[in-house]
Amino acid sequence: MTIEEAAQLLVMAKVLDSRFVEPDDGGFVLRLWSRSLEDVPMAAAEEALGEYYRSARYRETRDSIMPADIVQWYRDRKRYPPAKRGKPVALPDEIHAGVDRVLAALAERKAITAGEDPATAADIAEGETARRRLVQSVACTWPPCKASVGSPCVGPRGVPLSRGRAHEAREAAAAKPSVSLAN
Ligand SMILES: [Zn+2]
Repeated sequence: MTIEEAAQLLVMAKVLDSRFVEPDDGGFVLRLWSRSLEDVPMAAAEEALGEYYRSARYRETRDSIMPADIVQWYRDRKRYPPAKRGKPVALPDEIHAGVDRVLAALAERKAITAGEDPATAADIAEGETARRRLVQSVACTWPPCKASVGSPCVGPRGVPLSRGRAHEAREAAAAKPSVSLAN
């Protein structure tokens, strides 16, 4: 898993679990996770995350997920492959709604670190969220992606692009003024 994928995973964990560790500005948490999960593919980690937060163990202990939980899940999965692969576990919709919120908070913090005053930083964060929403108001036409309205663009392995990036065709389509049907 790359640093970008680890960042995305941490955002997802934070959305599911408000007590999840706060990433530090030095990127220590991020590097630790990326290194601990270097041999775990992103799709597997995402599935492990979703399963963990639905598990009886989490309901009972409310312990935040740790890299070791994901590594163990991935190893078990390889050791005991499911006899019949069902539909991949979809992460709940609230993750996608929550990612907007988390990305806005990250953008705001980044702007403050870069020396913007808090009001300007909030405007920047709001602008980023609005831009994402605008881009996602149209479907992506890029053949390998074809993300539908409201869904993020995805990369080759079906993983959403990091930091809410979208394919060029989609950004161009979203930027075009909508055609009015009335004359
Ligand atoms: Zn796309």
